Formats: sequence, C-alpha cells, structure tokens
Amino acid sequence: MPKQIITPEYKIHYPVKVAKSKIAGMGAYALQRIPARKKIGDLGGVIITMKEAMRLINNLKVINLVELDDDLALNASANSNDMRFINHSCGPNTYLRVMKNRVEFYALKNIKKGQELSCDYGETHHDGKLPCRCGAKNCRGFI
Ligand SMILES: [Zn+2]
Repeated sequence: MPKQIITPEYKIHYPVKVAKSKIAGMGAYALQRIPARKKIGDLGGVIITMKEAMRLINNLKVINLVELDDDLALNASANSNDMRFINHSCGPNTYLRVMKNRVEFYALKNIKKGQELSCDYGETHHDGKLPCRCGAKNCRGFI
C-alpha cells in the first residue's frame, strides 16, 4: 500500500490582484504594502509523488511543479491560487521557501502597493533553455 498523501490547506496572507503582467502573461500585484520578510502566502496545489510528477513533465509542455521533500512534489496546475501568477524575475522582490509540504512566498524587500510580485525560481525543468524576459538589470538571459 502506498502511503496516503494529504494536501494541506494553503492560505494567502496578503491577497494580490491578478492582472496583465509586465513580465509574461498574467501577474500578481500587491493590494497593500508588504513589509520585508513577511509571509505572503502558500502556493496552492495538489501534492503528488515525484514519480507522478515525472510522468506529468514527460506528457505535458507547460506544467507548474515544485519539488518537495520525501520524494513528493506540489502540482500547482490543480487546486491552485493567485500565488501561481507570481512570475520569475532574476531581480525579484519575493523568495520561495519549501517547508515540508508547503511552498511559501516571502517578501524579499518592502513591497509597495501596486507593485508586481516576482520570484527567482532558479533552476526549472526548462534546463536553462527558455529565454528570460524579466527585464531585470541582472537578468541571466535564460531560465
Ligand atoms: Zn531574467
């Protein structure tokens, strides 16, 4: 019997406005000032095994997955929330912390009301082959 996988309840502490992004597609904008180091919220999703995650990656072109501990992954393409609209930037204003079965976003610096939230997702399954259009001064060029 495989062990039962329980997806916890994911919460957003600082609600965001979803609107056209300055980076790519839709983006998440701060509805109020967010002080540095405050937790903004958890990325919504469904917890799956890494085996299932690899199957999804091999079958789909676009997938929103974050690797967790214990051979698990968060599939943010299902049961998701507005945190998924936080785009990648090489000069971000938020950062990710993976805590067991949660992917948490924190403010890297003081964020003003109306600013678009961005995060450096680091290495992705794109293997550094996808051109980055974040527009940051220190943009690495590829993600
Ligand atoms: Zn970039």
